[in-house]
Amino acid sequence: MTTPLPSPALRPDCANCFALCCTAFGFSRSADFAVDKPPATPCANLADDFSCTIHASLPARGFRGCTVFDCFGAGQAVSQQLFDGVSWRANPSSRTEMFAAFGIVRQLHEMLWHLDEAGRRTFDPDLAADAYNLSHTISAVTRGAVRDLLTFDVGALHVRVRNLLMEVSEEVRAGFAATGSRHRGSGLHAGADLVGRTFRGQRLCGADLRSALLIGADLRDCELSGADLLGADLRDARLDGARLERALYLTQPQVNAAAGDAATTLPDRLAAPAHWFR
Ligand code: SF4
Repeated sequence: MTTPLPSPALRPDCANCFALCCTAFGFSRSADFAVDKPPATPCANLADDFSCTIHASLPARGFRGCTVFDCFGAGQAVSQQLFDGVSWRANPSSRTEMFAAFGIVRQLHEMLWHLDEAGRRTFDPDLAADAYNLSHTISAVTRGAVRDLLTFDVGALHVRVRNLLMEVSEEVRAGFAATGSRHRGSGLHAGADLVGRTFRGQRLCGADLRSALLIGADLRDCELSGADLLGADLRDARLDGARLERALYLTQPQVNAAAGDAATTLPDRLAAPAHWFR
């Protein structure tokens, strides 16, 4: 497969978004969001120009979740491409469809993010071709008609994407000699409850940590090359000095939710959040 994977902008561009993350979703009051907010309703802190009136003090005001969220570029794609740059304020009748489209496109863009990595990490040309074809299908849906997007079977697609990601994960992790025996008995497995566990300084190469609960876990100075972190919950995990540049399926929201430092190494596509250095 010589044709490159489709590469729509998968990074947020808030300047070209109608604050869809501040309107479309609903939130219950929690440690991450200080108030109850119904779905399809503008947040009380949203300004008329779609900026956040408390942007500089979100964590201090109880809105830490807003600093963690990442739309994978869905916001500007929906605002500018699907709805031609006409906001839900300018055309209130578009609200319902625009907010629903945002939720769907965010899911699809997250799939594109992972498929891009899967296509680059696998050495199997058939898997690379599958990743390309799935990405192509998704890109076409996100650029098509809104009515087709809103009736698209995201669930069925998600199963196909998940299966492919798992196949590539097994291949990558096998390359790190971690097909199961290496971490047997360590409690490291997909979906493991590892909340608050201490792994400081350990070599976790090729570990299957997919969907693992690593909330508050101590991963300082760990070697995580080839570790599958798809959907792992890294809230408040300590990543100081951890080597993650070759970890698999890591995303910006996961990094944003964790704590790290200047010695933490990340994949090229990801950036250390500012709060790591305060
Ligand atoms: S607090 Fe600010 S960033 Fe968070 S949802 Fe409200 S307007 Fe958006």
